[in-house]
Amino acid sequence: MGAMQVKYSYLDQQFAEVEPYFEDLRRLVKSGEFTLGPFVEEFERKFARYLGVKHAIGTNCGTDALILSLKAVGVKPGDEVITVPNSFIATAGAVVAVGAKPVFVDCDERYQIDVNKLESAITPRTRAIVPVHWAGCPADIEAIMSIADRNGIPVVEDACAAVGAKVNGRSVGTFGKANAFSMHPLKPLNVWGDGGIVVTDDDEMAAFLRLYHNHGLRDRDHVDFWGVNNRLQPVQAIVASRLLDGIEDSLEARIRNARRLDAGLSDLSRFIRAPRRPQGYREVYQIYLAGAANRDQLLNDLVARGIEAKVHYPIPIHLQKAAAGLGYKPGDFPVCERQAQEIITLPAHQHVTAEQIDYIASSIRAFYEAS
Ligand SMILES: *Cc1c(COP(=O)(O)O)cnc(C)c1O
Repeated sequence: MGAMQVKYSYLDQQFAEVEPYFEDLRRLVKSGEFTLGPFVEEFERKFARYLGVKHAIGTNCGTDALILSLKAVGVKPGDEVITVPNSFIATAGAVVAVGAKPVFVDCDERYQIDVNKLESAITPRTRAIVPVHWAGCPADIEAIMSIADRNGIPVVEDACAAVGAKVNGRSVGTFGKANAFSMHPLKPLNVWGDGGIVVTDDDEMAAFLRLYHNHGLRDRDHVDFWGVNNRLQPVQAIVASRLLDGIEDSLEARIRNARRLDAGLSDLSRFIRAPRRPQGYREVYQIYLAGAANRDQLLNDLVARGIEAKVHYPIPIHLQKAAAGLGYKPGDFPVCERQAQEIITLPAHQHVTAEQIDYIASSIRAFYEAS
């Protein structure tokens, strides 16, 4: 097969037809509603309805959505917060930003928090559990909730990459007390810059967050408590609102591509293996991960064939220089550390065609047959 380009970023394709967005933005410019206001409120209502949750509060980005969620559940300086070492750095970064200490639990063979190792990480100082729905695939959130409930510890879901992912029909991001989503350009629901959302069913928490993310202002002249300016921009709310209308088609295209790639790789499982796909889980594949032998050579080979494969991520969080003060060392999370050597991210997003998926599978086959 001849060389074919399979790009990791789809943004130029996604926004090739930009006029409809500009139409919406004209309404915004005309209204002058440039902070909070009706466009943000409309998107928040729509997003809450989509997920099946009572309240959605827009934020500046996903990291801020995590920070606000941790504040809302009462995490204070000196507290411990349990999370995973295999995530984007922002998960642990948000914990540090509220003055708390990230306590890591190793992941399982689905790249999700290992629920069998969760309970033993709980101490009297544990103030929250932050499971990540990594790669847009649900963690075992039902098991996590039962452990958390049994121990009286609130859960903050990092659903940043997982909008539309479900467990037994229920959206992730609706299980924990306050939960975070990102609308970074390369997340399944994305905007033209940064954006984030906190969701909660708790009226009091929602009321706190509404004030806190807008300086604590009850109204123009009255401040109830110290807050911050951490709001979703109306421009982004407008982009997100239009994209939310088409999100299911886009997620279904990702799911189709992932299934086709799973099938295309299934007889190569000695060399490359996609994780188990549990029944009742709707995985939305913000990134498509597999574990590969000779990962670095495979990566180079695929890139040379025009396939923009990546690694998310080669260095686990606990081994980053930033984490040195936490006291972890190599060997502390053996599953995560092994996976850091094996994982490869293959482009399977909604703009990848079936023909391109087949080209990825045949390129991987050619690599292993030659080696
Ligand atoms: C993207 C992401 C974040 C951070 O979101 P931003 O909007 O970039 O701040 C946090 N956690 C996970 C799992 C993510 O994928």
